[in-house]
Amino acid sequence: MDKINIRDLSPGEIEAFIAHLGKEKYRARQLMKWLYHFNASSFGEMTTLSRELRGHLEETASLDGPEIAKIRTAADGTKKVLFRLRDGLHIESVLIPGRNHWTACLSSQAGCAMGCRFCFTRSLGFQRQLTPGEITGQLTALKFRTPEGPNVKNVVLMGMGEPLANYEHTVTAVRIMTDDAGMGWSNRKVTISTCGLAPQIRRLGRDDICVNLAISLNAPDNERRDYLMPVNRRYPIETLLAACRDYPMPGRRMLTFEYILMAGVNDSPADAEKVARLLKNLHCKLNLIVFNEFPGAEFRASSPEAVAAFQQVLLRHHYTSIIRASRGSDILAACGQLTGNAA
Ligand code: SF4
Repeated sequence: MDKINIRDLSPGEIEAFIAHLGKEKYRARQLMKWLYHFNASSFGEMTTLSRELRGHLEETASLDGPEIAKIRTAADGTKKVLFRLRDGLHIESVLIPGRNHWTACLSSQAGCAMGCRFCFTRSLGFQRQLTPGEITGQLTALKFRTPEGPNVKNVVLMGMGEPLANYEHTVTAVRIMTDDAGMGWSNRKVTISTCGLAPQIRRLGRDDICVNLAISLNAPDNERRDYLMPVNRRYPIETLLAACRDYPMPGRRMLTFEYILMAGVNDSPADAEKVARLLKNLHCKLNLIVFNEFPGAEFRASSPEAVAAFQQVLLRHHYTSIIRASRGSDILAACGQLTGNAA
């Protein structure tokens, strides 16, 4: 019989598993602390658990997680971390430097089925869903096995894959991240980024995990979004924005719309006016990201002048809009450039 991987279980499921072994609830919390606070890699290390319980766990359970295979550093300090999974597939995470902290950008799938035309990951096609332990395992490894780990303060699910197309595993991973006995992250520090799966945005709103939501918009109208992002043919802009309007962002937090600027495609001042009209009355901010070119890309990056003009229009309409510097593009670590390629 296959052993159950404890890293794939939500806090509630770990409690149920421990109860099934006839042990008290607080033992589950102890086990999680060993895993997520002290980074234990074997049950033998968990010395606050009885020898008998450790023996049971060794017979019935495992603690498998992704292994760091390689780390590359870009000229701007961004680090691309290649992970090897148990079945030999590779995925990537990115560590992005900020002024006083680092942000970990995690993958949720190996490959991706969404087919966004501006994204290098799409060339892989879909390989498979990541398990909850493979999603959180990237963060645990980054926290405990890289020098930057102690200063990782934000997490974004924006690496390879569409997190809401791996809904159950993504939500379990977030529950592990935000539980006190799990990784203990504030839900304010965790962001899920989606290409626009409207029904799953609504579902996420009904689930009580209260994480930040970022939406990859990238076009001012359906015609262009249909071309750039096939998901738009299923959930056009009106359907997507209706789901966004209903998403219960807690407190004064804002939704984030990501907009990748591609020369001559979606970057004119008139396009910015359209975007401003689309997002009217949404409590949101915009991240403007200059397209990161990759081998064989069909698009080119917008010029600095075009980016500035686009931003000016949004600012005139009173949107918080930030131009995001392209990070790590020299090692294909930037937005939409991840392929899990060991090179
Ligand atoms: S941008 Fe995101 S959703 Fe679109 S193909 Fe790339 S990884 Fe998938």
